[in-house]
Amino acid sequence: MTVQYLSTRGEAPPLEFADALLGGLATDGGLYCPEQIPHLPELDPAMPYAEIATRVMWPFVEGSIDSAVFAKMVDQAYSRFRHADVCPLVDLGNGTHLLDLSKGPTLAFKDVALQLVGPLLDHELGERGQRAMVLAATSGDTGSAAIEALANKQNVSALVLHPRGRVSDVQRKQMTTVDAANILNVAVDGTFDDCQDLLKAAFNDSAVRSEFGLAAVNSINWARVMAQIVYYVSAWLRLNDGAGPISFCVPTGNFGNVLSGWYAKQMGLPIHRLVVASNRNDVLTRFFETGRLEAHSVVPSLSPSMDIQISSNFERLLWEAGDRDSEELVGLLARFRQNGSVEVPAQWVQRIRSEFDAGRADDDAILAEIARVHDRLGLVIDPHTAVATHVAKSRAEDGVPMVCLATADPAKFPDAVESALGFRPQLPAFLSELLERREYLVEAKNTLESVLAEARVLVGRI
Ligand SMILES: *Cc1c(COP(=O)(O)O)cnc(C)c1O
Repeated sequence: MTVQYLSTRGEAPPLEFADALLGGLATDGGLYCPEQIPHLPELDPAMPYAEIATRVMWPFVEGSIDSAVFAKMVDQAYSRFRHADVCPLVDLGNGTHLLDLSKGPTLAFKDVALQLVGPLLDHELGERGQRAMVLAATSGDTGSAAIEALANKQNVSALVLHPRGRVSDVQRKQMTTVDAANILNVAVDGTFDDCQDLLKAAFNDSAVRSEFGLAAVNSINWARVMAQIVYYVSAWLRLNDGAGPISFCVPTGNFGNVLSGWYAKQMGLPIHRLVVASNRNDVLTRFFETGRLEAHSVVPSLSPSMDIQISSNFERLLWEAGDRDSEELVGLLARFRQNGSVEVPAQWVQRIRSEFDAGRADDDAILAEIARVHDRLGLVIDPHTAVATHVAKSRAEDGVPMVCLATADPAKFPDAVESALGFRPQLPAFLSELLERREYLVEAKNTLESVLAEARVLVGRI
């Protein structure tokens, strides 16, 4: 069976996996989703993570890539993780668990998908004799994960925009200390939103898109959602020996991570509840309460990777909740863009509420939660993970394990941890001299022209 990918907006042609991987966003502005959602394959709790991953993802990629090549790429992707389980579970007591997604090279959960998607992209371009330039805008974690996944690849380069002076020292150095000819870091004189606008302007200009062969690895890329399905499955296998229901609580920004949990459930994983945990930027929590999508302006928080008002991947869930009615969805999105708010049809809301739950944690709750977990268990958690464990406290149900996703290592966010606990967490040994390493970056004005000038420098280098 070969799965076809459909655009949520219904105008772009269906694609097979490899084309959706290279295309990123559909040409009608929609997001690609699998037409058929395959059922979970035969699995065994004793299987290593990479084997579970290969089996779970195979039906989504079949027809686009050779099976032995795919298995080898999955194996290599997860060999760089600093734990034999790749995404290990930690028991917090009272039926609550942490699923630690921070064991990859850049200490955040973005690695789980990008360590595979980077090489997949490079492989597919090589097969076609093509080259591409990944254009990425980052508020911190995506940039370093993309750079680690793409450095020194043959067929793909990466131009990574970050807002100058607005990412943490650790986050910036994780990006700028990678010395590779195919990577260029650009510090843009503007905010993260400015960087995202520059990226959209580049992608919306078809001349620019084809001059550079632009590709995207942000979470609108289906391959990332696919790779994240695996750890929901592996957690369930390890915890319940492949029996009984399980719930997950997910610190949420762009809705990519928790959406992967929803796909795992559609594949047959017995997920009882998927809990969407937001910080003070709580557009999704308010949606679950009111049935309205209403964007406010973004307020900086202690969990910056969740400071988002428009969660792009939510479009995929709306499309499914509305029985894939693209016309209705396009109208709804247009009203949302125009008015900043929109009423979602009651039946869609009801369907979504039957599978999801939501809650929020403001900055005070985050600090109190980091302190509580440390006092009780001697464990240091990061401010994103704290949003999830805070929300999970009031959602526990007897007999159903609650798994909170730990999305970053606390050493990435030392200031927040210090405010809560009075000390700064240590970086892992392999990054201990990170802050002393030499940086490679250029600066650019907040204009498409100056960013494209840097893109041409990158083209000239490789
Ligand atoms: C990206 C990120 C999130 C949010 O994940 P989404 O898939 O965007 O919902 C949460 N925590 C950390 C540490 C992240 O880097």
